Amino acid sequence: MNKKLLLHICCAPDASVPVPDLLLEGWEVTGFFYGNNIHPLSEYKLRLEALDKLIAHTGINCEVMNYNPGEWLEKISGLEHEPEGGRRCEKCFMAQFEAGALAAERLGCENFCTTLTISPHKNVALINSLGEKIAGLHGLTWQSRIWRKNNGFLRSIRVSHELGLYRQNYCGCVFSQRA
Ligand code: SF4
Repeated sequence: MNKKLLLHICCAPDASVPVPDLLLEGWEVTGFFYGNNIHPLSEYKLRLEALDKLIAHTGINCEVMNYNPGEWLEKISGLEHEPEGGRRCEKCFMAQFEAGALAAERLGCENFCTTLTISPHKNVALINSLGEKIAGLHGLTWQSRIWRKNNGFLRSIRVSHELGLYRQNYCGCVFSQRA
């Protein structure tokens, strides 16, 4: 197993703890930002700006997908009215992990992880089980982490503040914006 790890980054503030912690663990970290779930475009740009700041601060490489919200809307079609945390979110995680796993394969990263488990609002068991399943389908090793442990979320708030990172007040999609 090589030490190359692709880190799925849901947003810069949530990555502000996982990136340095994984680097300290000795991984060669490459970030991956999906972003097609983010609405509207102005919000996407704010999140990308924050990501650029974090990349500059940590020195990691990061792959950013071309913004194509239509692709994401197709993936969650029929689940628009699900509550946050329901089946739409599961599909959303899967879409992001599938895109990330393809990037990991292309970039020669044998390990795959996500920043999503730093959020106190997310189902970490579901996230890690979906990640493990999708990683396995692509011959990758899922690095299961629960970043919110050991005050991870509070640390991310502090680090984001120190770096001046934009922190959003909704998860990202148009449906979470309205919630
Ligand atoms: S609420 Fe968040 S996780 Fe759920 S579908 Fe929207 S963007 Fe994805």
